[in-house]
Amino acid sequence: MSTSALRFEIVDGNIGLITFDQPNSRANTLNQAVLGEFEQVLSEIEKRTDLQGLILRSGKPGMFVAGADLKELGSAEHDPEQAKKMVQRGLRILERIESLPYPTVAAIEGSCMGGGLELALAFDHRVASTHPKTELGLPETKIGLIPGWGGTQRLPRVIGPANAVEMIASGDAVPAAKAAALGLVFDAVPSERLLEEAKRVLQMSRETGAWREARRQKQQPVGLTEDQHAFTFAVAKGAVLAKTKGQLPAPMAAVEVVEKSCNLPLQEGLKIETEAFARLVGSEISRNLIAVFFMNQRLQKDTGVSNPEIKPQEIRRVGVLGAGIMGSGIAGAFIRRGIPCSMLDVNDAALAKGVAAIQKLLQGRVEAGRMKPEEAVAALGNLCTTLSLAAMSDRDLVIEAVVENEAVKVETFQKLQQHLPADRIIASNTSTISITRMAKAVNNPERFAGMHFFNPVDRMPLVEVIRGEKTSDETTATLVALAKKIGKTPIVVKDCPGFLVNRILFPYINEALVLLEEGASPRAIDKAATTFGMPMGPITLNDVVGNDTALYAGKVVNTAFADRAATSRILEELVKEGRLGQKSGAGFYSYAKDPKRGTDDPAFEAILARCRKQQRDISAEEITDRLFLPMLLEATRCLAEGIVRDPSDIEMGLILGIGFPAWRGGILHWARSVGVEEILRRLKKYEHLGPRFHPTDALRQLGTMKLGS
Ligand code: NAD
Repeated sequence: MSTSALRFEIVDGNIGLITFDQPNSRANTLNQAVLGEFEQVLSEIEKRTDLQGLILRSGKPGMFVAGADLKELGSAEHDPEQAKKMVQRGLRILERIESLPYPTVAAIEGSCMGGGLELALAFDHRVASTHPKTELGLPETKIGLIPGWGGTQRLPRVIGPANAVEMIASGDAVPAAKAAALGLVFDAVPSERLLEEAKRVLQMSRETGAWREARRQKQQPVGLTEDQHAFTFAVAKGAVLAKTKGQLPAPMAAVEVVEKSCNLPLQEGLKIETEAFARLVGSEISRNLIAVFFMNQRLQKDTGVSNPEIKPQEIRRVGVLGAGIMGSGIAGAFIRRGIPCSMLDVNDAALAKGVAAIQKLLQGRVEAGRMKPEEAVAALGNLCTTLSLAAMSDRDLVIEAVVENEAVKVETFQKLQQHLPADRIIASNTSTISITRMAKAVNNPERFAGMHFFNPVDRMPLVEVIRGEKTSDETTATLVALAKKIGKTPIVVKDCPGFLVNRILFPYINEALVLLEEGASPRAIDKAATTFGMPMGPITLNDVVGNDTALYAGKVVNTAFADRAATSRILEELVKEGRLGQKSGAGFYSYAKDPKRGTDDPAFEAILARCRKQQRDISAEEITDRLFLPMLLEATRCLAEGIVRDPSDIEMGLILGIGFPAWRGGILHWARSVGVEEILRRLKKYEHLGPRFHPTDALRQLGTMKLGS
């Protein structure tokens, strides 16, 4: 097998064809070794006098170039001078491509991301295949960087600054058809015609001289008028600020680079890009985001069990019991991925409600352009509904999502078993009930586990696969494989109250309520959490989840961990008054005027006044410490108890399950970067509040612990 990533050949007599196919790898990445190969191939090409054109393509179906090598970038120190050198090597290669005395075309099939798109942008023309995996994007801002190989320069010159800034600041990729509409690629054709199309464009360009014009356009300023310039970047900056709340420097840096450089010649613009890029490489945020990327990759590869011999069972048909919020969401997730699903409930009205919810979800996806109408129809064809457990007899797996009541669930399992062959798997979506305990009621506890989806199922990527004491490796591996098949990220968790995410979330929710009782306002608490980087504060989160649900789940976790749980009567008082949160129009906030964000509500103030124990001013710093330190301590307890199989599962569980800011690298990582000594110092301040602020041994060891595998 060849050890080189690039193959060069002459086709049709005078066209140079470079095929990029990195050996022993599913992806093509632009690491230092590959850059060296590009330099060599270019030297060979530059010497030749017989060439009339150059085409670059990938040898891997569905994969053009994934981008720069993140292992190299993630391990880069924060050394701007070193970063500049790294960048200049790549820039020089692109410049050499742009100086060849004949037209060039990049034939793109599959992911064309980051450095891959920057490379393609150095070609005079790009053509794409309509392969479903073809997508083009500059995702650098998602890992705390900006494009460094000319992406902030050539993209605005090719598709215009407004579109370019949107693509770069969001980091989102576009499919082939959209790329063609934007003018990013010349056109999009079926895979089997891609090479022919590249040759056709090459010939046309040679005949018309279009390649000279394409090059000229990329060298020159884009030429925005003063008004256009001011408008474009005011809009772009506003959009970035709204999204990042000023917490992530990279998207704004990208906008500013394009703003400063788009009206300058390419060479001057590239210098501005390089300076800005070098400031971000190796920065803490960038390294954290890259570390999270790798933690996510680990999960994607993880089979969920340590024994490599274990093979997941094939799941061809599933059943879902309960057509409520979760049952319909779970059924929707299966049918969207082509897995036939039978959904059961106790009466027609409940089933109709569940089906309507699924239809609404599919319709929403069609309207957002994320699904074709015929795909939505095909998905619905995979759904059937039933009132009879007998209809579950041909299912490989049945997921229970009926009401959160142990007696009802256990009775359901017992009745289900009368119809379900013994070799099938039963999983429960319970949020709080012990899997080990419920397993005692089933005939085959080794084929019983928790499969805890998060609400809304359509948007939340995380699934906790919960192993009861007797759950087998095969059952675990099967649920992990199935969760991945429907696009979710599974984490295997040992059975314990609250499992992983709710167990760590509740100390934080509890503390928010205690802070209210001590005098903090709901807004001040939410603000401290969002300033830290959470997508919403704990008070709003209660209103969104439902205060009745939060009260119930909280009781289970707080009873189990009574030694350290801080309790409050506020949730109980709210539920008593029917203030269940967003769903009832009022909770901590009122949702009458603003159904999403809510407004401050004097009626809640009256309830709070009854519950308040103190009325003191509490600083934002204290609120932040008090919210996140108990959360951290619970995370260290989960670590010590082996609730997950790898410390990075705790980080990813919180990032995916509750939106813990990825740019902090995870909660354990955050503590490490603050410093264990400093965390201990902060805990000392709150020692008098009780065991929930007392350090754990695992926290003391955190400084030296290996946090990822
Ligand atoms: P829900 O009240 O919306 O739906 C429950 C459905 O189960 C109803 O349609 C009801 O008619 C049906 N049902 C009741 N008894 C039944 C029986 N014996 N057989 C068949 N169907 C029956 O509740 P939900 O929010 O969808 O919660 C379902 C499960 O998912 C619970 O265990 C809950 O703890 C868990 N869960 C909920 C959330 C959430 O945020 N809502 C998140 C994760 C897990």
